Order: sequence, then C-alpha cells, then structure tokens
Amino acid sequence: MGEFDLIDRFFKRPVTRATLGVGDDCALLMPTPGMQLAVSSDMLVEGRHFLSTVDPARLGHKALAVNLSDLAACGAKPLAFMLALALPRADEAWLEGFSRGLFALADAHGCELIGGDTTQGPLNLCITVLGEVPREQALLRSGARAGDDLYVSGTLGDARLALEVFRGTRALPLAAFEAARARMEQPTPRVALGLALRGVATAAADISDGLVGDLGHILKASGVGACIDSAIAIDLLASKAHVTLASGQFDAEAALEYVLAGGDDYELVFTAPPAARDAVQAAAARAGTPVSRIGRIEAAPGLRLVDAAGQAITRRFASFDHFAG
Ligand code: ADP
Ligand code: MG
Repeated sequence: MGEFDLIDRFFKRPVTRATLGVGDDCALLMPTPGMQLAVSSDMLVEGRHFLSTVDPARLGHKALAVNLSDLAACGAKPLAFMLALALPRADEAWLEGFSRGLFALADAHGCELIGGDTTQGPLNLCITVLGEVPREQALLRSGARAGDDLYVSGTLGDARLALEVFRGTRALPLAAFEAARARMEQPTPRVALGLALRGVATAAADISDGLVGDLGHILKASGVGACIDSAIAIDLLASKAHVTLASGQFDAEAALEYVLAGGDDYELVFTAPPAARDAVQAAAARAGTPVSRIGRIEAAPGLRLVDAAGQAITRRFASFDHFAG
C-alpha cells in the first residue's frame, strides 16, 4: 500500500462543512461571519505520551481528544482538523483501528478531517484542530480576578493512577483499573462545558500536565494567586478508595499528588465570580458535566493549599514538564 492509497483508504472522507477536504494542496474552509477561528496543535509521541502497546482505536480517540480539549478550554466549537502522521510502516490493522477511534470521536463532535501529511518514521501523531468562537467571547487564561471562585470539571488524578499501575508502583482491582485506564487512554474533552461557560467563566485552561501547572498558567497570565482546599481536591480522585498504604489505610499524600500534579486528565480548570455560582451550575447541568468549586483566586501571587482546618500545607507539587530537571 503506497502513501496515497493509505490516505485514500483510511483518511479521505467527504467533507460537509469545509469547501475542500483531503486531496488537493490545501484544504479550504469558510469561516462563519462574526466568528474568530480558534486553532491549536498537539503532538503525541510514542513512549512519551502513550505506551507502544495501546489499542490503536484508543490512540486515535486520544490524539483528537487532547486537541478538542484545547478548543473546550477556549469555549470554541470544533469545526475541522488536520492530521500529520509519521508511521514506521503501513500496518493495515493498526490504521483500521486508529482511524476508527479517531473518526468516532470526530463524528461525535461534528469535527471533520480536512487534510494532513503522512510520512514514514518513528510513530508520531500531530493534530491541528480548528474551531470557532464569537468575536471577543473566547475563554482566556488571563481573565481571573481576585475574589473569583476556582472550579474544576469532572474527576482528577485517575489517569495518573493508571500510569502508576502500568509502572508497577500500585495495584488496583480489575474494574477500578479499567476505569482509570480509560481515563488515561480515552480522555473525554469537555467541549460542551467550554461552550456553556462562555460569558460565565472569567478564565479557563484544560488540565493536560496537572492541575498545579495548568492553573499556574492562569495565575501567571492573570497576575493573581489562588488557594485550593485540599480536602475538596482529594475527593476528585474517582478511585480514591483504592489508594492505600501497606497498612490498608488511605494514602492521602499519594491521592493528593495524583489530583494536583497527575496530568493527562483533560478536565477544565476555570474561574468565575461568586455572583455567577448559579450560572456555573446551570452551565454544568446543560453540559452534563459535574463541576466542583475547589478554592478561590486571591490577589497575592502563588498557589496555596489548605487542609480541612484551613491550615497551610507546605508540601510542593510539580506538574509534568518535558524539559524539567
Ligand atoms: P503535499 O504534497 O501538497 O504536501 P501530500 O501529498 O502530502 O500533499 O498530501 C496529499 C493530500 O492528502 C493533501 O490534501 C493532504 O492534506 C492529505 N493528507 C496527507 N496525509 C493525510 C492524513 N494523514 N490525513 C488526512 N489527510 C492527509
Ligand atoms: Mg506532503
């Protein structure tokens, strides 16, 4: 199978929204009048972002999901995407699974593949996603204000817990492992929530590297600090009951580490003024995505953690950084 047969067979589909899709030198896309284009790229590298043994359908899902998550964080509606692929070989079974997982998620979000590039090389997947958002309505990292409430969507830390099981540092009962593993391998981009939060949230980001790091981007861009209630945060770990010490007791330190610094969650972290609490809950209900208020934005820079009694926790948590150390 040659390069162009491969593209025709696995990636060429009729387009409905774009003027021109796969097959020419460029794709053509007509932006809706009054809308701004939201554009983002995310690359997945074997061994770095996924294990070589991962189910290709799950990988296809994840490659697009991490990109849709960036649109969600901006409150943008998905339109189309480009797929740049380096493949070691034209493995038909792998391509069939990968494209199936990819298009299942694409179709669920009405996001169509309009082009890309295909080359031979070490497995590497790069997607560029295009979305649209009404002018001036994109959710940015820079809008948080002192006094705002701090929220996250869904649950946090379970993807990291699954990674620890793969690394052999933790064990989980099978059902809990499968649930955590699905969080790691098939994250759910919070697109509907991002759309519902337009005009409600003051700032937003998606959590890819870990809450501490991604919230840190909001704090820096907004020139503010924040305080997180660790007792609320720890409850965000869905498989909390299984994170135990050798004695069988709950391992609160590990649970907090997974929630605050785990990464690969693809939830949203966002801020909104206290006057918007009802509007935030209404947005969450409309999107069918639970949200939790985990703290507040403060004028003093930096991130503070407090325990249930309001005492400061001084332990440090660092999110994932490819070039750290
Ligand atoms: P060019 O030579 O102009 O770079 P290519 O020969 O790389 O174009 O690609 C031919 C067509 O196939 C283009 O429309 C391109 O966007 C599309 N394409 C290539 N690889 C992919 C892919 N993995 N998924 C979707 N479209 C692709
Ligand atoms: Mg090319």
